[in-house]
Amino acid sequence: ATPMAIMVGTGLGAMNGILFKNASALEDATKLDVIVFDKTGTLTMGRPNVVEVVTAEGITRDEVLRIAGAIERNSDHPLALAVLEGASGITLPETRDFANIEGKGASAQVEGATVVLGNRRLMDEGKVALGALEEPGERLKGAGRTVVHVARGGEILGLIAIADAARPTAKATVAALRERGVKVAMITGDNAGTAKRIADELGIDIVLADVLPGQKAEKVKELQAQGQRVGMVGDGVNDAPALTQADVGFAIGAGTDVAMESADVVLMKSDPYDIVGAIALSRATLRKMH
Ligand code: ADP
Ligand code: MG
Repeated sequence: ATPMAIMVGTGLGAMNGILFKNASALEDATKLDVIVFDKTGTLTMGRPNVVEVVTAEGITRDEVLRIAGAIERNSDHPLALAVLEGASGITLPETRDFANIEGKGASAQVEGATVVLGNRRLMDEGKVALGALEEPGERLKGAGRTVVHVARGGEILGLIAIADAARPTAKATVAALRERGVKVAMITGDNAGTAKRIADELGIDIVLADVLPGQKAEKVKELQAQGQRVGMVGDGVNDAPALTQADVGFAIGAGTDVAMESADVVLMKSDPYDIVGAIALSRATLRKMH
């Protein structure tokens, strides 16, 4: 595009809270084949809350939340904040040797026992049998909940089901992109069952689940290797390498500084629908040069 058209385009974007950091982003946004959306904090509000606690036999709901809360007090993961809120009013014991298990959960010593909490994969790796909690776990994932498993000394204590509502415009965003000939995918560290349920609700048919934080950029690269031009939309520290790898990286304005620094475009209103605006604007701007 001509420098004049680019200036007008970026100016119009800025007025609408869509910040193009460079001219090439404005041009590249016209040619995207697929947009990959991070799930948590991008398609969802990123403000998860506890909706149900399922306990093993002989264990109370408060005991599950007390043990889980003790661990999560050491973490700044959005799920940790949800668990802590669920445990408010309960006196939390001290922990030792806290360790974050990236993309899976966390562990620590509590009252002389090793406590591990997080996703199903972490339980399988630790050979923790779910027993009677197997079935409710599957039911909750089928309902789109993220399930935090809590185990002490290798024994399952309970499941904490967490819900994170979709952003109000997420579904309309997916429909509008497809109408414009752009494919839509979802990427997440969450499990496939939960991810699939949310994707179905939003009309997304390409789901990349159980993706460890370090693998998001790799997934973008794989799509590019198939000859696709990839846009990536994310909010978290985890998303930064994928935003850089993508042909155009879009950061949600309410996200982390790292994501915003890594992106080519920042959506100041934190509204995923602004992706549609960004693409429409870039296409209109580029047409002006012909
Ligand atoms: P996302 O890509 O959806 O932002 P993460 O990669 O941070 O998710 O985490 C992937 C999964 O690991 C979560 O869905 C959760 O099951 C588990 N997990 C990670 N950290 C924690 C934690 N502090 N407490 C509970 N579960 C966790
Ligand atoms: Mg996120």
